[in-house]
Amino acid sequence: MPKSNAALFLGPNAPWQFTSADIPTLAPDEILVKVLLCTICGSDLHTILGRRSGPVPSVLGHEIVGEIVDFGSSVSRIDIRGESLRAGDRIVWGIVANCGRCFFCQNDLPQKCERGFKYGHQQVGERKNWQGGFASHCVLVPGTKIVRLPASLSLKSAAPLSCATATIAASMRFADIYGNDDVLIVGAGMLGLTACAMANKQGPWSVACIEKDEYRRQLAKRFGATVAAQPGLLRAIDFKNGYGFDVAIECSGTNSGLLEAIELVRIGGRIVLVGAVFPSEPAPLVVEKIVRKHLTLHGVHNYRSDDLIAAVDFMERHDNSFPFEDLVAHVYPLEQLTDGITAAQDGSNIRVAIAP
Ligand SMILES: [Zn+2]
Ligand SMILES: [Zn+2]
Repeated sequence: MPKSNAALFLGPNAPWQFTSADIPTLAPDEILVKVLLCTICGSDLHTILGRRSGPVPSVLGHEIVGEIVDFGSSVSRIDIRGESLRAGDRIVWGIVANCGRCFFCQNDLPQKCERGFKYGHQQVGERKNWQGGFASHCVLVPGTKIVRLPASLSLKSAAPLSCATATIAASMRFADIYGNDDVLIVGAGMLGLTACAMANKQGPWSVACIEKDEYRRQLAKRFGATVAAQPGLLRAIDFKNGYGFDVAIECSGTNSGLLEAIELVRIGGRIVLVGAVFPSEPAPLVVEKIVRKHLTLHGVHNYRSDDLIAAVDFMERHDNSFPFEDLVAHVYPLEQLTDGITAAQDGSNIRVAIAP
């Protein structure tokens, strides 16, 4: 009888529990997936280090690329692009499985579903049907938005699709970049680098990236930034004929990043906030500045299914234009998860992956 293995997260200060269970018998509306690769996201680290709380025991890891093993007897075998699914297909799926009926599902925010099921964030139940990426298998529940992957896409490029890439695709909807825009990206981690690349392909006038780390600034240039500078060194007067940036995407999650974006965007500019996903100190904000500058601030957390499709389409089209694969610095087997977590905390590793 084949087994499925998992690393259980028991809390920020507790050791990981490596365990195995029988592969669960599928309910009619479930799909069994073998986890091929899972990249460790910044928000996994926030949970592991206790910067935000989550239920325990749980199987963390939500940037997953998997291979379909088996279908429940009545589950749909069509992905959200309308393509048929078969055992052996490589897929990614939306981080939140949603109900489709609640207030938020009906109001264009399915990622905030009141009955949402979030992969890599759920408490493990009696059934031991692992539902995160730090496990050999993952059972997909009803409401999961699946996209079959093009064969050309490497596992390393595909793994971040279901978190970082799709979230930046969502932020692009609100950034609404035009052909002559000057675009500011704050931060050059996984989110910021993806934002540089996606913004670049929208064909704006310039893409400037603010990043304190020299190595990451060099990376930003390889990901389509036309300018990469340390915080505090860019001047609004140098962009858009002296008016400042048309749009900024804040990916650093820092208060200083937000404050700098507010300084650098022009009157009437847009700021999309996407990086701050754990509680921080309140930002010292002069609200009058937002009013007088007619700024639009938009927070973006997770994404809709059309954003996931846009992310997959982007990677299929542009994976060759940018070194996305190189961002996954190391791959560890599940048994060496703790080494992987340590490596993921090193700022020079944009992503570290687990291959269960
Ligand atoms: Zn994530
Ligand atoms: Zn819902």
